Amino acid sequence: MPLQLVQGDISRERTCAVVTAANKELVGGGGVDGAIHRAAGPELLRAIRRIGGTPTGTAVITPAFGLERQGVRFVIHAVGPVWRGGGQGEADLLAGAYRESLRLVAEHGCDSVALPAISTGVYGYPLPQAAGVTMRTIHAFLAGRPSLSVRLVLYGEETMRVFQEAQVQWEAEAPRSRVQGNDAL
Ligand code: ADP
Repeated sequence: MPLQLVQGDISRERTCAVVTAANKELVGGGGVDGAIHRAAGPELLRAIRRIGGTPTGTAVITPAFGLERQGVRFVIHAVGPVWRGGGQGEADLLAGAYRESLRLVAEHGCDSVALPAISTGVYGYPLPQAAGVTMRTIHAFLAGRPSLSVRLVLYGEETMRVFQEAQVQWEAEAPRSRVQGNDAL
């Protein structure tokens, strides 16, 4: 399976790249970003501060520093949107954060990546909507790169349950959209 859903702490992953949910000022944060910075050590913060910032819906890449001990080579700092009701382009921005992260993973020659549920913590993106966008964006990317192994590392049972439902829904809808896509050709 190129996309795996797992429940746990992403800072313990051993994939080639690990994605964190950063803020656009790249100043480090709590939540998943705090866990990754604690595991990677202070050099990671110095590296992103040198970059200085990146717009919402994009991502930047740094070495993994302390996480290299467990085989991780890169940390990707993805900036998802703050949820403002859904009418402010949140879905496109969330999709952009995932797409840009996956593009960086592929560009740097990695065959595996672990990603968190971007924007679903402090940024308040409702889980079912976030899960739908996440699933569609990752599967669309994987269609062009089936050899990439993607682990969505979800924190807590509720997040896991909602993303599993979105995965089932995506599987149910995927054949239909492929047929529609073929009809359009
Ligand atoms: P954002 O500001 O993008 O919402 P958060 O870090 O607040 O970022 O939350 C993003 C998601 O990461 C949430 O679903 C949260 O439960 C989850 N999370 C928090 N800590 C970890 C961790 N150690 N590993 C994986 N996911 C985590």
